[in-house]
Amino acid sequence: MSMMTGKEYVESLRALNPKVYFLGQKINSIVDEPMFQPHIHAAAMTYELAHDPEHEEIMTATSNLTGDKINRFTHIHHSIDDLVKKMRAMRLMGQKTATCFQRCVGLDALCAVYVTTYDIDQKYGTKYHERFKNYLAEVQKYDWMPAGAMTDSRGDRGLRPSKQAHPDVYLHIKERLDDGIIVRGAKTHITGAINSHEIITMPTRTMTEEDKDYALSFAVPIETKGITFVFSRQTNDTRRLDGTIDAGNPKYGIVGGEALIIFNDVFVPWERVFMAGEYDFSTELVEVFAGYHRSNYGGCKVGLADVVIGGSAWVAENHGIGRASHIVDKITEMIAMAETCWSCSLACSYEGYKTPSGAYHINHLLANVVKLNITRMVYEWMRIAQDIAGGKIITLPSEQDLAINKVGKMIEECFYGKEGVPPMDIIKMLRLVENMSVGAGLPEAMHGAGSPAAQKIMISRRGDLERKIEIAKRIAGLKKDPHFEKIVGKDENEHWKEVRTKTKEKSVQIF
Ligand code: SF4
Repeated sequence: MSMMTGKEYVESLRALNPKVYFLGQKINSIVDEPMFQPHIHAAAMTYELAHDPEHEEIMTATSNLTGDKINRFTHIHHSIDDLVKKMRAMRLMGQKTATCFQRCVGLDALCAVYVTTYDIDQKYGTKYHERFKNYLAEVQKYDWMPAGAMTDSRGDRGLRPSKQAHPDVYLHIKERLDDGIIVRGAKTHITGAINSHEIITMPTRTMTEEDKDYALSFAVPIETKGITFVFSRQTNDTRRLDGTIDAGNPKYGIVGGEALIIFNDVFVPWERVFMAGEYDFSTELVEVFAGYHRSNYGGCKVGLADVVIGGSAWVAENHGIGRASHIVDKITEMIAMAETCWSCSLACSYEGYKTPSGAYHINHLLANVVKLNITRMVYEWMRIAQDIAGGKIITLPSEQDLAINKVGKMIEECFYGKEGVPPMDIIKMLRLVENMSVGAGLPEAMHGAGSPAAQKIMISRRGDLERKIEIAKRIAGLKKDPHFEKIVGKDENEHWKEVRTKTKEKSVQIF
């Protein structure tokens, strides 16, 4: 099977029958449910753009397993160029959808499991990597979208998984059988879960020997018996049922459609198990996945910034203040912040490295800096967007009122801007700015791929403070600098002694 188009992806979901609940109801057809359609369209764009010759170079890749042309969202990075192209694909996708397009979580899970299974096999002589490559070949062949499922519900955060009062707050192995394992527990706020073909699970934290049964990674189809999805409630979500304007981005939505996944005694055959008790590799899997995923944010969120900057500039222009110096200053500020985040993402890709598995990984320190910047700067550029858009973004009448005969026309007249610009266009753009800057996209930028505290832990671990102290000591003269000694042609102590004598002579001459 070749790469799917966007439409074929949507139809491929129709063939699946996962157990999904939302707003108190069981949903029978994911694809036909209006609440789910926007974020399904966003994911579909990852398929569609792979067929556009203009974007082919960044949206497709060559499989390291088969040599076939595949969608980049199923490709394991095998060069710096791959890492950079992924980042360019992320920004492009953000620009095309103005929302979370979800498929990168599964891609990052594929890459992280690829890297870690290789390392586990080197230590324990297991066969996880071969098993995983067989699975990956299927993902590429059928162009599947797997959901990457990492975060457990975690119960009492101060206790290890094996010490929790309720054993199911972390996903774990309940039973080991000859042909597979039985698993139980849950994964929370999993992006794109209900419209993926598969789920790939990973541990959510470092595990110890006592937590062996929680050091777990596997893949299952979303319609596997025992799996239940509960789709998340989000700010303004029912606006999707109000028509085609008030939702702001009716084509693609505002966030990626998150869900709680409950595993109730689910059977997983051994050929789909990629970690089962190797607790000493749980940290590696978590960190490799988090590194890939955090680096993304300077791509996807900057694509969104491009949209909201464009929207803000358009609103200002059509309100007749596009050239006002304070507007130019604000738009420039937004651009500078967005490009700062973009620079970080490019840097952590260019500073990537080859892992023993052959796959390339990003620079961990810089990836965490990317994400930490995003937790602040998205709020800041959205704050400026609201500032530019003005109070209308919180007081606009609903589209139902606009649809009333005569009253609708009267309302429209209240929203005239520059001569010749249809007021309805102004209303639509204000709704876009409103929904992008007020809705669930903000906390998503804060907590997606881990909260700021998680990034700070990694930055502090990898910031190499010892070296910074060492270099400061040399500059302050607490330690000798051999390069400086070469420049002055003598021992530092001798040099400073001479300098002191000379400066003394000089001051005697002056005074
Ligand atoms: Fe991908 Fe996360 Fe960005 Fe969504 S928010 S597009 S899942 S990196």
